Amino acid sequence: MESQDTKSQETVRKPLLTYAEALALLESRCMSFEPTVSEVLLPEALDRVLASEIALDRDEPPVRRSAMDGFAVISADGAAAREIVGVLYAGTSGLPTIQSGQAMAVMTGGTVPHGADTVVPVELTARDGDRLILADAPPADKHVRAAGEMGLKGRAILKAGHRLRAGDLAAAASCGLEKVKVFSEPKAAVLATGDEVVPYTETPGLHQVRDSNRLASRLQLQGFGAQVTMDCHVPDKEEALKKAVSKALDQCDLVVTIGGVSMGDKDFMPRVFVECGVEFLFHKVALQPGKPVWAGIRGNTIVLGLPGNPVSSFTVLELFGRMVVDQLGGATTAYPRPLRYGTTTTELRSRKRPRWLPCFLSGDQDGGALQVTPCQESGSGDWTSLAYASALLFLTPDSQLQAGDRVAYLPLANP
Ligand code: AMP
Ligand code: MG
Repeated sequence: MESQDTKSQETVRKPLLTYAEALALLESRCMSFEPTVSEVLLPEALDRVLASEIALDRDEPPVRRSAMDGFAVISADGAAAREIVGVLYAGTSGLPTIQSGQAMAVMTGGTVPHGADTVVPVELTARDGDRLILADAPPADKHVRAAGEMGLKGRAILKAGHRLRAGDLAAAASCGLEKVKVFSEPKAAVLATGDEVVPYTETPGLHQVRDSNRLASRLQLQGFGAQVTMDCHVPDKEEALKKAVSKALDQCDLVVTIGGVSMGDKDFMPRVFVECGVEFLFHKVALQPGKPVWAGIRGNTIVLGLPGNPVSSFTVLELFGRMVVDQLGGATTAYPRPLRYGTTTTELRSRKRPRWLPCFLSGDQDGGALQVTPCQESGSGDWTSLAYASALLFLTPDSQLQAGDRVAYLPLANP
């Protein structure tokens, strides 16, 4: 027989996990995953996660170079005219020398000759045949890039765990690399559920909705850095759902399902996950929208059960999925990501739960904060509010903001 104590404990409502708690719990379970490493050509490495350090393969620059088009001279010669003894273009080889009383024309990027200690820009000079005329005595050590000023051979330029952008790959190219080592992209599955959900290419009946979330989730996951290798729709039938989830668990590192995690009669997903051997991590988080989110793990495969409302599924995948893809893909990005701040253009309110809202940013940053405007919205089912969304605006519980108040947001992009 159950004791009175156990019974009363069961009826006590546990407070919901906060977003930070749920994120930390999920993150701690992604840690043991070890992505594989492969080499890819630099043009194919954009947005991939670097798997080994990149370092300078020589001192940079290897010799002193001119930072201006001008003349390399010896400052101790003062304002006296000099004899121009040659010209050094960027690309001229060799290490020439000048003596006192001499100058050498040198173009930007050209080697500064031995003996010279400064470069006089061409616009501060005049020429009389082979004679260089200066108005003033030149200051020492101007417009010369010192050998090794960017770094000595071996200086680390990029660390493992960094998601590569165009500038990173330009730096890798300058280090003499043809290929870089990158981590494998996590394989993800997207399963949309719901008898009312039809392909967006079909005309829906009055009782049906177009499957917009499956497309959104696929594109979001790809944007985070996952490879979506399975993508399908499954009706609200337990057996069919179990079959699809099992297959996704066997084939993927991350399984994202859409819909069926709330309290409805056909919300089968929590039971289906457990029956497929998924270990439960959490169900329901103090969020608006997205409260019914379900998360679990089987082996090394993470499961995220998103609520079906379009704004909920979009928001929850951004809030949890980006971290999971980073973790499984070897990226060292810190979570939760720091919030940014701007000025709201409208009045905003939240109730008991922290609230996230699709929004867009405008205005310039000249001395003022960016303006943050919520996309028009009439609830978590309002898919029209996903149009133009470039960030999620964040409100703490019981917020009441007026137009012009400071407001937090999270950009919808990799940091
Ligand atoms: P659910 O979480 O399954 O109760 O679904 C909540 C709401 O989201 C319902 O109105 C569904 O019709 C809608 N919904 C569920 N899945 C999708 C989807 N893939 N695309 C668009 N809307 C959906
Ligand atoms: Mg449903």
